[in-house]
Amino acid sequence: MTQRFDLKSASLGELTDFLSALDEKPFRARQIYEWMHVKHVTSVDAMTNVPKGLRALLKERCTFTVLGQLDVQISKLDGTRKYLFGLPDGNVIESVLMRYKHGNSVCISSQAGCRMGCRFCASTLDGLARSLTAAEMLEQIYRIGTDIGERISNVVVMGSGEPLDNYDHLLRFLQLLTDENGLHMSQRNVTVSTCGLVPRMRELADERLQITLALSLHAATQEKRLSLMPVAKKYELSQVIEACDYYFAKTGRRMTFEYSLVGGVNDTDEDAAQLVRLLKGKNCHINLIPVNPIKERNYVQSARSVVETFRNKLEQQGMAVTVRREMGRDIDGACGQLRKRHMQARESVELPLK
Ligand code: SAH
Repeated sequence: MTQRFDLKSASLGELTDFLSALDEKPFRARQIYEWMHVKHVTSVDAMTNVPKGLRALLKERCTFTVLGQLDVQISKLDGTRKYLFGLPDGNVIESVLMRYKHGNSVCISSQAGCRMGCRFCASTLDGLARSLTAAEMLEQIYRIGTDIGERISNVVVMGSGEPLDNYDHLLRFLQLLTDENGLHMSQRNVTVSTCGLVPRMRELADERLQITLALSLHAATQEKRLSLMPVAKKYELSQVIEACDYYFAKTGRRMTFEYSLVGGVNDTDEDAAQLVRLLKGKNCHINLIPVNPIKERNYVQSARSVVETFRNKLEQQGMAVTVRREMGRDIDGACGQLRKRHMQARESVELPLK
């Protein structure tokens, strides 16, 4: 069977080539591209200036990815929305909308599940189901933008999954997201977060995009990092830090280091001192994230005073630090928990039928 052409993952150039093989003119490609990436229509038949015959052909030869909204939880405190979306093959993913004064930010998933195994993360508990296509990543933003009827100004690839474990689709997604013929988001408004896949970080640096790269650091020594993140076995802390320096050298973009504070595990004065030693002198920003406890692991949040002390220790040494504001406290589950709950509910409904 020949593979169907993935309409929404194609660049304008690829779409033009695809249509020219069907004897269609380039302006058709522009029309279709605009329907998908500017108007965000949910069916081929909504492309009303495309002749019926061509629409039929597209439906026959192509996939047209649209995510189905299965659930949304809306915070009464700050308007944060947590969405559960269904993929065409039945997998489910979650995405989050955060409303800030400076605009609307969407946190997207890059994979259904994850295979990185970070100890405190719910997304990885059931392993990786599969990576998402570029269209499936874009769709999370398009559906949320349509749902709220407002512009999405920022995107963070910090939901479930390891984006650099889905490298080719991620790059394609970034190109489509920032394309002047599409949503045209500024590269500077996009952040990609990685657990530290060194060769891919270097490849990304060579692309010289103006996006922000965030590294999930979580510990300032190899030994402690390894106890929290199995990926550290493959890529040692020193290599990861070198890759961060390389990223900065190539792109001029200040790195962000994410550090999830886990009570009694990585939140002591000594941990803060080691973190300063590791990052001092780098043009970087540290984002402290009080760990979001998941019931499958017995990690706990650091006390508020401990978080403050940790922050102060870093600031006293001249480091740029923020503590991540907890958005949507009332609907908050850790990353991947809404999806996990949904899958468990589905299993308990489906089991009696087996
Ligand atoms: N795989 C990528 C992006 C996804 S996770 C990465 O590792 O960076 C986004 C961030 O949330 C990462 O820093 C991750 O370590 C962190 N995170 C995951 N689960 C968490 C939890 N329960 N509490 C606090 N931070 C968590």
